[in-house]
Amino acid sequence: MMAWEPSKPLVMEEIEVAPPQAHEIRIKIVATGVCHTDLYHLFEGKHKDGFPCVLGHEGAGIVESVGSEVTKFNPGDKVIPLFISQCGQCRFCKSPKTNLCEKGWASERYDVMSESDTRFTCKGKKVLQFMGTSTFSEYTVVNEIAVAKIHPSAPLDKVCLLGCGVATGYGAALNTAKVEPGSTCAVFGLGAVGLAAVMGCKNAGAKRIIAIDINPTKYEKAKVFGATEFVNPKDHNKPISQVLHEMTNGGVDFSLECVGSVAVMRSALESCVKGWGVSVLVGWTDMDDFAARPIQLIAGRTWKGSLFGGFKSKDGVPKLVNEYLEKKVKLDEFVTHNMTLAQVNDAIQLMKTGDCIRSVLSVALQ
Ligand code: NAD
Ligand code: ZN
Repeated sequence: MMAWEPSKPLVMEEIEVAPPQAHEIRIKIVATGVCHTDLYHLFEGKHKDGFPCVLGHEGAGIVESVGSEVTKFNPGDKVIPLFISQCGQCRFCKSPKTNLCEKGWASERYDVMSESDTRFTCKGKKVLQFMGTSTFSEYTVVNEIAVAKIHPSAPLDKVCLLGCGVATGYGAALNTAKVEPGSTCAVFGLGAVGLAAVMGCKNAGAKRIIAIDINPTKYEKAKVFGATEFVNPKDHNKPISQVLHEMTNGGVDFSLECVGSVAVMRSALESCVKGWGVSVLVGWTDMDDFAARPIQLIAGRTWKGSLFGGFKSKDGVPKLVNEYLEKKVKLDEFVTHNMTLAQVNDAIQLMKTGDCIRSVLSVALQ
């Protein structure tokens, strides 16, 4: 599915996918989710140089062929392509403090959001690979440092969500916020990323999980993942941080912004209790500066950001798949629509209007 230019519907095209070169893997994509970051690039981002491209970065598939020097993958392996690589060699991979990898797409090109070193061509034109992955395609080619081999019995139409949204929100709560047992948490935005953050807070043992969204149809789902209270900013004529301070005797211990709005980021920080409150930015935006009063941080709050939930990708994703198979992590409950790749524009529309959590598109028969 081609994104020829910003803000236009995607178009089904015949794309040439070159064979994998040394250390590369050609993957037959079986299923892919649609994430808000795809919409961000198509409609909101300011980098028009990221086109034409093939969108999609939340997929799962099967190894079709491998390039030379690939020793750890074989045709037939079930895999998840990763938009955060893990080379294992760079100083970031060697540090337990971060999941950024120096050799990956995201360390340099996240502002443009497309990988220039692409294996795609269409009508003689070079086609960029979105987030280094491009899962809205029957085949894609990814370097082996950005591919996770997963359990052979994993259902690809569910575990694809671990390629982005669910891993992101879940890890933001567990790895980045480090939510503590008995704590009070607030999650802003109840798409798949926010709901996964709710699930992370619950699995970390949080006592109160306050779910915040301007779309009240999301609350029922949030309950399934462990939310205990619901707040609609539209029901209040005072700042949402004040509402949360009143509900919690001075603010929450942890807040997670899963919307991608600098105004909400500020509210999430200001909703935290002074002294030790931690607020994590998960929503994606690179358009505007954000603002806050310095006293918010001087008074002991911490502001952090989280990319892919802080998971080292090649290590973390197969473990998450196993946790799903052991029923420790929910995935099925995120899927509200099953469609085909040809219906991707409908799936994009559903996310725009807030009428879905995740649409999973089948790309090829399993
Ligand atoms: P989504 O569109 O499904 O969900 C966003 C939710 O936010 C919706 O339910 C919407 O109603 C709600 N919302 C909008 N404005 C709000 C407001 N003012 N207050 C409260 N809620 C509001 O999107 P998603 O796929 O869940 O993604 C969420 C965000 O996470 C996006 O910005 C996406 O780009 C980002 N993201 C970040 C990473 C990362 O690694 N950091 C990875 C994946 C996605
Ligand atoms: Zn995503």
